[in-house]
Amino acid sequence: MSRYWSDVVKGLTPYVPGEQPKLANLVKLNTNENPYGPSPRALEAIRAATDDSLKLYPDPNAERLKRAIADCHGVETCNVFVGNGSDEVLAHVFLGLLKHARPILFPDITYSFYPVYCGLYQVPYETVPLLADFSIRVADYTRPPGAQAGGIIFPNPNAPTGRQLPLADIEALLQANPDCVVVIDEAYVDFGGDSAIPLTTRYPNLLVVQTLSKSRSLAGLRVGFAVGHDDLIEALERVKNSFNSYPLDRLAIAGAVAAIEDREYFARTCRAVIATREKLVADLENLGYEVIPSAANFVFARHPRHDAEKSALALRQRSIIVRHFKLPRIAQYLRITVGTDEQCAALIAALKDILGP
Ligand SMILES: *Cc1c(COP(=O)(O)O)cnc(C)c1O
Repeated sequence: MSRYWSDVVKGLTPYVPGEQPKLANLVKLNTNENPYGPSPRALEAIRAATDDSLKLYPDPNAERLKRAIADCHGVETCNVFVGNGSDEVLAHVFLGLLKHARPILFPDITYSFYPVYCGLYQVPYETVPLLADFSIRVADYTRPPGAQAGGIIFPNPNAPTGRQLPLADIEALLQANPDCVVVIDEAYVDFGGDSAIPLTTRYPNLLVVQTLSKSRSLAGLRVGFAVGHDDLIEALERVKNSFNSYPLDRLAIAGAVAAIEDREYFARTCRAVIATREKLVADLENLGYEVIPSAANFVFARHPRHDAEKSALALRQRSIIVRHFKLPRIAQYLRITVGTDEQCAALIAALKDILGP
């Protein structure tokens, strides 16, 4: 703390990302990265873009990337916003679409960046408890007339639970809340979920946010995007152009376009992650774990007789890291990223050893 800090900075509680230890032979299952590398075509495109043209600013509108995303999702480029990772897209969403007098709503157990943005942009919020099985009940987000939410946001599938809300429920939520923006954060949707993007043409209050960090294995490149009605996109462009008009650099644009266009590699690696997840769930259940049904590239599991924090520490001693949150309701859960088959087999072998006979 310093007397030079602004009052806003003094009051911040910054987000704490999962750690990125630099240890050899680590089985890293803590930050939901994709165990398969990016598309070779994306890497080739980044190499090809590494030339003298880097002396020039990138296209401030990343038109090529918007075109590739629009074609992939059957929308127009005016319905697409791109940013430096979906975290940056979300930041602009909080300032540009969710900051109102009335509090916004999100689940009590969800992506922990949301309250951080509320702190940064001074957005009032209320959390809505998930049901006991960690599912979202949409009726809990619908307030009486005159007391409607300032906005609604949650990931689908939710994080860190992995549970998916059916699209019919999202549509019911949109119909019940026509006066506020509903933001669906689809960071994990490509691992077996249903995207709400098709609904954006019928619901002008729906914004869907996605990232290339997880399903396209490009967490290090920092590319995310939003799809929605042009009016919503325009709000985000206004914020972006008042903050940093060149968020995506030339290499990121080149790599992201190639990654979006390489649909075959994308489909194949997503299928591989899903297949490994199904085996991981079965193996964990054999060890006595209760696993929340997951539509993501991670699973959320608790053991009725073994303390989660102790198990996470014991795994770490065996060079396997998973995520444990010391938070109400979920302190007995481990969030385990789906790695390769070999990494998951190493995790199961270590857990067998830790849990004992
Ligand atoms: C990983 C994640 C993001 C952020 O992804 P980036 O594009 O890497 O910034 C956003 N929302 C949720 C729920 C995530 O898990």
